[in-house]
Amino acid sequence: MSARKPPAPVRMNDPDPDLPDLVRAAGLALGLMKAAKADSWADLAAAIDAGEKAACALEVTVAQARLLDAHADVVALLRPKPMVTVAVCPACGAWSLYSSGAVSARCTLTRGCEGKQVKAKVAVRAKKPAADGTN
Ligand SMILES: [Zn+2]
Repeated sequence: MSARKPPAPVRMNDPDPDLPDLVRAAGLALGLMKAAKADSWADLAAAIDAGEKAACALEVTVAQARLLDAHADVVALLRPKPMVTVAVCPACGAWSLYSSGAVSARCTLTRGCEGKQVKAKVAVRAKKPAADGTN
């Protein structure tokens, strides 16, 4: 009997805590979808159900899972390729879906808003899990 090692867990770096929560959730979701080569969040869930290796190797922290849950409605709309991401204006709280192109720095979501839109970037894969099991 050969004991095969389970695949190494794949984690995403925690998104910048200063970013709006929706931007953090979106970046994280895109990073996870990309790592599993999933086309959407639903596709990723299906890959996990089907036991696909790349999808099953993904690990999220409790905080990351809560963040994703809290924004599940928007996360469901995101696509890694071609990219569908979000930008949020922290000043007025409005958000919109965007492609991979540049987003206007000034808020275009609310008339007269002086805020600057923040676009979600794909989360970076963590180098390796921390030795103590935390992120
Ligand atoms: Zn705004």
